Amino acid sequence: MVGDAAGFILPLSGEGIGTALKSGLLAATSVIEANRNNNQASHLYLDRLKDLLSKMQDLYTYVKKILEPKNENQKSLLLKEAWQKALSLS
Ligand SMILES: Cc1cc2nc3c(=O)[nH]c(=O)nc-3n(C[C@H](O)[C@H](O)[C@H](O)COP(=O)(O)OP(=O)(O)OC[C@H]3O[C@@H](n4cnc5c(N)ncnc54)[C@H](O)[C@@H]3O)c2cc1C
Repeated sequence: MVGDAAGFILPLSGEGIGTALKSGLLAATSVIEANRNNNQASHLYLDRLKDLLSKMQDLYTYVKKILEPKNENQKSLLLKEAWQKALSLS
């Protein structure tokens, strides 16, 4: 699965074009390489997806903290950091 169907939607903004393109590209290159080398495309795709999955998980952890801030200063700082992480996704 790729894009929205795989849940690659940025929790801060609801954006998902960049991550849909990225995951689609990873899926397509996995299929091409698997055909060339007689491998399982799903294994290659899941392996290539690890970085994106870990960044998405990180982002959701931030959003959870943003929803329960200790104070406004912490909320602003967390929002800034979360946006920087979101920008590195696609
Ligand atoms: C109003 C709105 C504004 C948005 N604005 C932004 C934005 O500014 N920036 C941003 O990054 N993201 C934005 N998004 C989110 C973005 O549109 C999605 O994250 C992105 O399009 C996901 O791409 P996708 O390829 O995963 O899914 P989709 O673009 O939804 O593509 C899935 C395609 O599969 C087709 N399909 C579904 N079922 C079947 C079937 N059974 N057989 C064949 N085809 C099927 C659908 O018709 C569709 O064309 C917005 C979303 C909405 C609703």
